Amino acid sequence: MKIAVIGTGYVGLVSGICYAELGHAVVCVDKDPYKIATLQSGGIPIYEPGLEELSRKGVAAGKLRYTHDLAEAVRGTDLVIIAVGTPPLPSGQADLSYIDAAAAEIADALTGYAIVAVKSTVPVGTNERVRDLIRARTDVPFDSVSLPEFLREGSAVRDTLEPDRVVIGADSPAAAERIAELHRPLTKQVMLTDIRSAEMLKYASNAFLATKISFINEIANICEKVGADVAEVAAGMGLDRRIGTAFLNAGIGYGGSCFPKDTRALIQIAGHVEYEFKLLRSVVEVNQDQRMRIVRKLEAIFGGELRGKTVAVWGLSFKPNTDDVRESPALEIIRHLVDSGVVVRAYDPIATPSFRGLFGDGGVVWCDGALEAARGADALCLLTEWEEFARTDLHGLQETMRQPILIDGRNVFKEEDLAGTAFVYYSIGRPSLN
Ligand code: NAD
Repeated sequence: MKIAVIGTGYVGLVSGICYAELGHAVVCVDKDPYKIATLQSGGIPIYEPGLEELSRKGVAAGKLRYTHDLAEAVRGTDLVIIAVGTPPLPSGQADLSYIDAAAAEIADALTGYAIVAVKSTVPVGTNERVRDLIRARTDVPFDSVSLPEFLREGSAVRDTLEPDRVVIGADSPAAAERIAELHRPLTKQVMLTDIRSAEMLKYASNAFLATKISFINEIANICEKVGADVAEVAAGMGLDRRIGTAFLNAGIGYGGSCFPKDTRALIQIAGHVEYEFKLLRSVVEVNQDQRMRIVRKLEAIFGGELRGKTVAVWGLSFKPNTDDVRESPALEIIRHLVDSGVVVRAYDPIATPSFRGLFGDGGVVWCDGALEAARGADALCLLTEWEEFARTDLHGLQETMRQPILIDGRNVFKEEDLAGTAFVYYSIGRPSLN
């Protein structure tokens, strides 16, 4: 198949590269000249394990290329995939201006029949809006398909090549079948449905996962008060197959470019049809409070006064194995610490440049290593569960710190890891140590 992918972000780039890996002829398009120049020179503008190798392989095989010329990419193609951003407006509603602009450009570039698929996460009715926009500008025949994306940053290549399921929303059975054929080598679970259900299903999935996270975080908060251990509670809950173990890790809550945006967007979608999604409102509120629990713990430890303290922060990305810091809990936590007069010493294995880009530089000492960040600190807050943190020599760590106080916002360490150290250890929903 000849495929044009519009938008080379986390979704478009990974999808395009993986379709090329399947042997299709793929052109990835972006407006951002830096991204296209990086890609054309063999690099990758985002951090995603395994992606750069696959990109080079696709290009070398003549299956993959990159351009900023959308019209040239769309001309004569069989499938156009829209994978542009749908960031939140201040109201929480999804901003569809990138979708609209891409649709208009595609309409002007179509030369013959093509399928136009929307991979971006979009409110119910958006595929119809895209179809109407294109129809208003061209007589060239096309079909619309909703193709929601479920990949996770950090494991995006594997998620794309071995997805749990592929959902295809279409009203043309022939178009649905062509898109199904494209994905059948990847999974047996190809679900065909109507366009609106496909659009809704994506939001419902993310809202449900966010609900699981806020649920276990509230259980963790209660565990702290009643002297139970949330890790034990979650492990026991997960043995019930109706519940499952996934997304039951208590911590400082979800972040990233999807869950915060998609939960708020679904509340708005419900509101537009005069339905108040009370449960999801609470999920968002619990998540907001949860990230501040780290700060509350620090305040409690230091008797309410943080000014003049030095606090090390490990982890800036919203989760491990990505450089994406959009809506990362670290943004808000570090902002609060800096505003409270704390000297923050921060380290992340990958995400420091993107974090600095969003946060600015004021008040933070950016460090090149985990131990360097901890040097002379009165406390250490672990905010992202990067694997290297779990392997820390805690005796060595203790030596570098002014006070051995560890607040583990992701429940990375176990009691036995701390044995023989002097660490005062706080985590989320588990008993404190020392
Ligand atoms: P992103 O912001 O990383 O990338 C979007 C890209 O589209 C940018 O590079 C931008 O320059 C480009 N773009 C915008 N308008 C364009 C145009 N007219 N022509 C060419 N390029 C254009 O976004 P992302 O994280 O890849 O997400 C894309 C969509 O997929 C969103 O709707 C998101 O909700 C959804 N999604 C994201 C994830 C994820 O993990 N990031 C997972 C599933 C779904």
